Amino acid sequence: MTALPPPSKKKLGLVIDLDTCVGCHACATSCKEWNAGGIAGPLTDERPYGKDPQGVWFNRVHSYELEADVATKQPAQTLHFPRSCLHCETPACVTVCPTGASYKRAEDGIVLVDEDKCIGCKLCSWACPYGAREYSAVEGVMKKCTLCVDRIYNDKLDEVDRQPACVQACPTRARHFGDLGDPESDVSKLVAERNGVALMPDLGYAPVNRYLPPRPRRAGDETQPENATQNDAGNLASRWLNRILKR
Ligand code: SF4
Ligand code: SF4
Repeated sequence: MTALPPPSKKKLGLVIDLDTCVGCHACATSCKEWNAGGIAGPLTDERPYGKDPQGVWFNRVHSYELEADVATKQPAQTLHFPRSCLHCETPACVTVCPTGASYKRAEDGIVLVDEDKCIGCKLCSWACPYGAREYSAVEGVMKKCTLCVDRIYNDKLDEVDRQPACVQACPTRARHFGDLGDPESDVSKLVAERNGVALMPDLGYAPVNRYLPPRPRRAGDETQPENATQNDAGNLASRWLNRILKR
């Protein structure tokens, strides 16, 4: 089993705004494009241009229909939920790894896989409650989101480009990247301002990524909530997301 480093001061992660995500999959495809030719977590495809393309995705976007909620007087709505590794502070995927292939970086908290050490036993994918691990049947090793570690520290890129490919590609700016360990960072302030939530915190893996809940919706005047606040909508979305993930 693999040990974790002491908690890092720097906690790099993503903040994803469920209010503005339109489910376009630009983040997923730009992730695929960057990593298919990258060195940090090269992706594999089977039959990429065939009738039944298969392969590895670090980032997947799921869309759900939310029923109207009588208690908070929220109308029915569609919610798009991008899902990728949350770079947990105490990740089960690392501690369960028998070879040390899964590891968490002490300097910035990014969780990575050393493919040279991976034996493809899939224990990490069973241990991750968020479904964030991706097994490559082609290479026989586990893969996962690297937070584009080969972009964010890449001094060959312009500074403005040193962020994850998914963040750069998002046309609605629903994705934000930064240091969630620094309360003064833009991402931390955004989370505080919008009551950002962690997914299934009760499991104890302390995910670093945060989701910003959808803002209360305006339906017709008759269904306009008198007292629905962003907190109500946030709690609803957070309860709902946790329920979906626990299935
Ligand atoms: Fe590991 Fe899953 Fe947490 Fe990512 S989300 S660090 S793969 S337990
Ligand atoms: Fe949502 Fe942005 Fe991803 Fe499109 S690119 S699915 S808007 S997070």
